[in-house]
Amino acid sequence: MKKTNDPSTRIFDLLQFGEYGDVNPSITDSATYTFMQAITMSETFAGQQEGCYLYSRHWNPTNKYLADALAALEGTESAWVTASGMAAITCAILQLVKSGDHIVCAMTIYGGTFAFLYNYIKKFNIDVTFVDIRKLDDVSKAIRPNTKIIYTESMTNPLLQISDIPELAKIANEHGIKLMVDNTFTPMMISPARHGAHIVVHSMTKFINGKNDCVAGAICGDKEFIDALCDVNNGTAMLLGPSLEPLRSSSILKNLHTLHIRMKQHSKNAMYLAGKFKEYGAKIIYPGLPEHKGHEVMKKIMNPEFGFGAMIAIDMGTAARASRLMEAMELEGVGYLAVSLGYFKTLFSNSGKSTSSEVPEEIQREMGLSEGLIRFSVGLDNDIDRSWEKIKHCLDTMEN
Ligand code: PLP
Repeated sequence: MKKTNDPSTRIFDLLQFGEYGDVNPSITDSATYTFMQAITMSETFAGQQEGCYLYSRHWNPTNKYLADALAALEGTESAWVTASGMAAITCAILQLVKSGDHIVCAMTIYGGTFAFLYNYIKKFNIDVTFVDIRKLDDVSKAIRPNTKIIYTESMTNPLLQISDIPELAKIANEHGIKLMVDNTFTPMMISPARHGAHIVVHSMTKFINGKNDCVAGAICGDKEFIDALCDVNNGTAMLLGPSLEPLRSSSILKNLHTLHIRMKQHSKNAMYLAGKFKEYGAKIIYPGLPEHKGHEVMKKIMNPEFGFGAMIAIDMGTAARASRLMEAMELEGVGYLAVSLGYFKTLFSNSGKSTSSEVPEEIQREMGLSEGLIRFSVGLDNDIDRSWEKIKHCLDTMEN
């Protein structure tokens, strides 16, 4: 069969079914596995037996089905699924660094990742330089002999900057280091590994699952890296142990199969609202608008049929105005004032006071994060114009 660059077709082409021909793969509800011959158990421990399972913290067949589907999504050789997005990010990073190493990291990233790299990782004597990831010269200049990783998000949280993944991969390859990309905001629409990223991480809590009923994560990369993560002696995933519960894997896998349809609808609705906010005169950030600084880079790297994504941000100037608008929108039924994203209903929150509150205020200002920024994850509304009418009503009636 012809190889395809379409992530949704790669997932569609997977033939995964259950023990009795069930169209959904069977759920393996066991922590441990029995062997008929002791030698097979020793070989499995030594990583010499393909297709055998020894313990569900290491691998579970249900998790393997989901991991294979994620490798198909990202076009990587292999993948591993985790109990949260942060588990995926921290395990993947810690697998690559040791005391005395250095990481170059995008300044605008999810607050939890920022806190891990700004506060927590210091205790392992690992240094991190934060840069404006759009300034490729700054990225190059920040690299030191002990740098091991360039870390970024394909579309950064919350300012929706676009990482030029092919150029960043070039820099990483020149220095023999890894480019790690968090693709949580742009599954389907950006395939970082196709553009040279070595490792792709996800919070599956968001679009991939799309139901807001669990937290989960994934690490996608080459077989060597994923095998190293699961190594019984030195693998960060195996030894820190954030394995995903197989019942959850099963439900996430079913949701993954509708991701392509959901992403198109999310993007269509977000583009519509972005246009309306712009017409209204609001200060709007959306990578789908030609004036967005990352618009051309996104056009260069995106899988166009999935659009420019669900995430938009508007700047209300002050935190007080942002709060008033969000409270009014919740009462009006636009969606929910809640953190997180990728839900079927619209979610909105003030980033500086919520998901980026781990970032010290002076750094928030330095990166251009206004205290009045509201980040929206636009939902799957069938009548998005009706939703806009509600938002407009809130904006019109809001006292200044
Ligand atoms: N990466 C991004 C871009 C996020 O927005 C988040 C959470 O909001 C995470 C990672 C962390 O994921 P989780 O909450 O599943 O641990």
